[in-house]
Amino acid sequence: MSENQDSYLIGILEKSNFRFLLTDCTSAISEAVRRHELEGKAAFLLSKVMIGSFFLAGMVKEENTVSIQLEGEGDIRSVLAYSDRYGRMRGMVRKKEGFVESPANSSGKGIFRVTRWGGERRLHQSVTKMEPTGFESNLLNHIYESDQLISFLIINSGPENRWKGMIFQALPGTEQKRIDEMMDRFSDVDLSADQLMEGDMETILFRMTSFLKEDLKVLDSGKPEFYCGCSLEKIQSVIRSIGKEEARSIIEEQGKIEIVCEFCRKPYVLDPEEVNLLFM
Ligand SMILES: [Zn+2]
Repeated sequence: MSENQDSYLIGILEKSNFRFLLTDCTSAISEAVRRHELEGKAAFLLSKVMIGSFFLAGMVKEENTVSIQLEGEGDIRSVLAYSDRYGRMRGMVRKKEGFVESPANSSGKGIFRVTRWGGERRLHQSVTKMEPTGFESNLLNHIYESDQLISFLIINSGPENRWKGMIFQALPGTEQKRIDEMMDRFSDVDLSADQLMEGDMETILFRMTSFLKEDLKVLDSGKPEFYCGCSLEKIQSVIRSIGKEEARSIIEEQGKIEIVCEFCRKPYVLDPEEVNLLFM
């Protein structure tokens, strides 16, 4: 699993009026899991939410970043992941205090929140109820409730131990007849998710072309990656926002201000002089 084979293909099925995204995000996800020192269910959920956010960002033409946030009553309180349409992704998990890893850990019932971002600006947010039915079914439900779009999707970590996903989604205005046909073709597929997702993206593309009996026209391809986007400038503006008094009192207590990025765990340390300069 050491070699970085991450890739994605985005395209359309012209006849059926569907779009699709196929991806292998293993290295990008492993990087997030490693930085947050996650394991078990927490790592599993974060992986799925990262792929889900890429699905939502990759299914539209706009250069938006999409975040998915799960907030639940379970042992895992919150999972948050961001991706843009190029699969540049990051994420984090908040666990209940005293969290002990167990097979039953989940985020349970709660809310499923999707936010679209244009840079730092929040463009749109939609919230649906999260049920303890698994991430995929909550994602499908969210897409249907908020955009009235029908999708088919698989997120799979399979026997190759690689995180892969594929989503097929009806474009807005697709005739019901086309959607029904697609549903039939998917229900005729007699392979398991593991079997469907085996191999590299080209192999999966070829397999799906034969199952769906239609050309999958690739419009865009690339390589997902772990990407945070934090910077010293952003950290400085956070310090400015806490105010001069507060910043000085931290300096007095600790001799410096240290902020660790929540997403990539990178530490930023500012000494008293640097902090003073922020308030000049
Ligand atoms: Zn960061």
